[in-house]
This record gives sequence, C-alpha cells and structure tokens, in this order.
Amino acid sequence: MKNLKKTKLLILGSGPAGYTAAIYAARANLHPIIVTGNHIGGQLTKTFNIENWPGNFPNITGKKLMDQLYNHALYFNTSIINDTIIKIINFDKSPFIVEGNLFRYICNSIIIATGSYPKFLGLDSEKKFIGKGVSSCAVCDGFFYRDKVVAIIGGGNSAIEEALYLGEIASKVHLIHRKNNFTAEKILLKKLKILIKNNKIVLHTPYIVKEILGNNIGVTGIKIYSLSNKNVKILPLYGIFILIGTIPNSVLFKEILKLDKNGYIITNRDKLNNSCFTETNIPGIFAAGDVMDNTYRQAITSSATGCMAALDAQKFLNKNY
Ligand code: FAD
Repeated sequence: MKNLKKTKLLILGSGPAGYTAAIYAARANLHPIIVTGNHIGGQLTKTFNIENWPGNFPNITGKKLMDQLYNHALYFNTSIINDTIIKIINFDKSPFIVEGNLFRYICNSIIIATGSYPKFLGLDSEKKFIGKGVSSCAVCDGFFYRDKVVAIIGGGNSAIEEALYLGEIASKVHLIHRKNNFTAEKILLKKLKILIKNNKIVLHTPYIVKEILGNNIGVTGIKIYSLSNKNVKILPLYGIFILIGTIPNSVLFKEILKLDKNGYIITNRDKLNNSCFTETNIPGIFAAGDVMDNTYRQAITSSATGCMAALDAQKFLNKNY
C-alpha cells in the first residue's frame, strides 16, 4: 500500500483557486496539503502577459504570477506535493480518502480546484501557434490585437460574446463557424447582426479551419474550407481565438458528486442564504475555480472562489472537529 499522508484539509490543484485556498487555510492554522496535479501552476502558466490581475504588475507572465502564488502558499507553510489524484477511495463521509500516483491521502475536508481546459481543433498548425497568436480567451488576450484583424472560431455563447468584445477592439473580426445556425442566445445574435452590418464582423459559415498559417514570430493567416461549396479562402490576420468550449477536470468525481450537463461541479452557489457557497452535495467537500464555474473562468474569479472554499472548509472543520 502507498504511504499515507494525513491532513485536516486536502486541496486538489495548483492553479489560482488551489493556491488561494491554501493561503487562507494555512493562515487559519488548518495545515493544508496541496496536491499539484501534472500541471503545476495551472492554465495561466500557458500565457505570456497577464494584464488583468489587479495590482498593476507590469509585464508579468502567467508563469511568474503563478510562481509568486506558489511562494505565497509556501510562505505560510502549506505542504505542496507533486502528485496527481487518480482514485477516490472514500467520499461517503469525512474522513475522506483519495489516492494519488505517489501517496494515499486521508483528510477531514477537501477542496477540489482541478480547473478546466479549453477544447482545441486538434490541428498541428494550431499547436505550433498556441500563445503566439492562437488563444482560447479573448477577454485575456484580445487587448494585444487592438486595431488588428482577428478570427473567432465557434458558434456558441462564448464565441459570440467574445466576437462582440473583440468587435470593439480589433479592426475586423472574422467569425468562422462550421454550421449555418448559431447556438448562442438571441440577444447576443441581435447584437452580432449590428456589428456585421457595420462591417466590424464578417461571417464565414459553414466553414471549417484547415490550417493556421504563420512564421517564426506568430500567426499571419488562416486557411478555411466551405462545407457547402468546397471553396477555400485564405484570410490574412494576426490572432485566432478558438472558442469551441471548455472541459472541466471533473471526470474523477462524476459518479459521486453532482455535476451539471457540461461536467461542472454543482455547488450551493445558487443558494440565497449565501452560506457555504462552495460546498458540493457531500458535506466537507468543496469546489473552487474553473471546475465549478462555467461562466466567468478567470484567474481572479478562481482565486475568489478558492478563498470562499477555504473559509467554507474552515467553518465545516470548526463545527465537526
Ligand atoms: P487551473 O488553472 O486550470 O488549474 C487546475 C489545477 O488542477 C492544475 O494545477 C492541475 O495540475 C490540477 N489538477 C487537475 N487534475 C488534478 C488531479 N486529478 N489531481 C490533482 N490536481 C489536479 N485568466 C485571466 O484572468 N487572465 C488571463 O490573462 C488569462 N489568460 C488565459 C490564457 C489562456 C491560454 C488560458 C487557457 C486561460 C487564461 N485565463 C486567464 C483563464 C485562467 O487561466 C483560468 O480561469 C484559471 O487558471 C483557472 O484557475 P483554477 O485554479 O480553477 O484551475
């Protein structure tokens, strides 16, 4: 059997939600353990400049910001273990038991902060330019394309919302969607029509992306293919935003915790009495960050729910232990 690690509070994930939860929990003397997962620092380490983290940290990269959060958690004596949880042994009631590649963990309370990952198209040329013109977050990276031509791929709410957002920043937005109809809400489509009329957004439907073109500096264009008349177009541009959905890292919990239809962990966040906002359907198990948030998915909102989860866990532990 694997060696056992015991703690009052186990935090799964080392993104903004996990580190923030650890900082709060450690300062409350809960001696938390973070299990980092394979991706130490989480999604933010994939991006270069972070300009929307409050406090004005000029030119800070995602990696540097997450290193600072890591050091902050360490400073308050959080125990940080490079392991990934692969099995749930007991989630019936506290004490909970989970197993990682290296250790077995027994704990009175858990915060799940395992994040999410964006869906990509799966093209080789796309992989090559991630972070060099290919992005999955217009709110995060759109600013770098002020007065430039960009493309958005997708037809759901996120794609249309971000097309509207970029329509205000970029000189032109090519909206590329594989179907003729959009699944986004009517109100968004109404706004979209106005920007199309004003030539800020150009529609390409039903088109799929064949290749992303670029050089050693970054993206220079996109090759798209019509599913109706087999026409091929090459559009010169500098940024491509792929918004075809995100996948929460919740597979491990799907038989045990309540998830919504997209796989996001459901917490008590909709409760009006506003107590234990982050608690799942199992008392003592909390969720924070992108894994429970299908709406905002930002570093700062993940940190915010990480903080809430630590405070909720503290309340649970004080009451029960
Ligand atoms: P994540 O950052 O996704 O971290 C999840 C953590 O869980 C990882 O450490 C992973 O290793 C761990 N994990 C997963 N499974 C397990 C397991 N089984 N056991 C243990 N650990 C596990 N937001 C902004 O606010 N500003 C930006 O500029 C910005 N830019 C972005 C650019 C890109 C390219 C992307 C993809 C996202 C960007 N975001 C940005 C969004 C932001 O990164 C996320 O909202 C945020 O990182 C979510 O934080 P999180 O802590 O919930 O999860």
